[in-house]
Amino acid sequence: MFDKYNRKINYLRISVTDRCNLRCVYCMPEEGVTILDHKEILNFSEIVSVAKAAVGKGVDKIRLTGGEPLIRNSIIDLVKMIGDIKGIKDYAMTTNGIFLDKFAHDLAKAGLHRVNISLDTLNPEKYKQLTSGGNIQKVFDGIQAAKKAGLEPIKINCVIKDNNQEPDAVAVTKYCEDNNLQIRYIKEMDLEKGEFSIVQGGTGGDCAICNRLRLTANGMIKPCLFSDLEFNVRKLGAEKAIDEAIGNKPLSGHVNHTGKFYNIGG
Ligand code: SF4
Repeated sequence: MFDKYNRKINYLRISVTDRCNLRCVYCMPEEGVTILDHKEILNFSEIVSVAKAAVGKGVDKIRLTGGEPLIRNSIIDLVKMIGDIKGIKDYAMTTNGIFLDKFAHDLAKAGLHRVNISLDTLNPEKYKQLTSGGNIQKVFDGIQAAKKAGLEPIKINCVIKDNNQEPDAVAVTKYCEDNNLQIRYIKEMDLEKGEFSIVQGGTGGDCAICNRLRLTANGMIKPCLFSDLEFNVRKLGAEKAIDEAIGNKPLSGHVNHTGKFYNIGG
């Protein structure tokens, strides 16, 4: 399927929860987060029906995000249900890696192809401060477990303030080189100010070739991260919500006053 700017839309990012076990300073605001009520969150069959509808319209790349997807109960069952949909060529998950050592094997068995793992520093104290209490050793264990399970290529999402020559980014880059991991540098973004840039080493943020839609945990199809546009799958049905989102996909991002990274899935 193509949008009105002739961009091929073949990528659906699915946020399976707005909850997270970490509180990264650039994602979860210090003043606290407004968490969705359980009944607002799509159940598995609703998520699968959106994924099926999207694949039926030409989506062949699906990424599971959050919040933190691995804290959603019975996540392996959901991964399998989506993995069983014929036509998905690239099936990935973005995770903070804290629970990956526990789930990597089962994720691969359920059909997941690969993972992106967040890692902005190698310094345990700095990691703890950035994530409000996270244990970096769990991430290293998760990376090794993902390798063992064959969830490759493993991509590391490294958030930077300005450039990839910042000391933490240089250290993470070396770690990736030494461990055969691919690195992406994601410059801190601001939804309300409309500040974003192209992901270095990826395609995110490049509006001219944008190929993605997002499904939020509460069932909104968003044509663009930096826009307030969203289409409710519970009200419109999956097919119509997807069609409306593609039909209204903006040429480029602007600002987003209604969503947060943790409830859109970045
Ligand atoms: S800002 Fe919107 S149009 Fe641009 S790359 Fe991001 S999602 Fe696509």
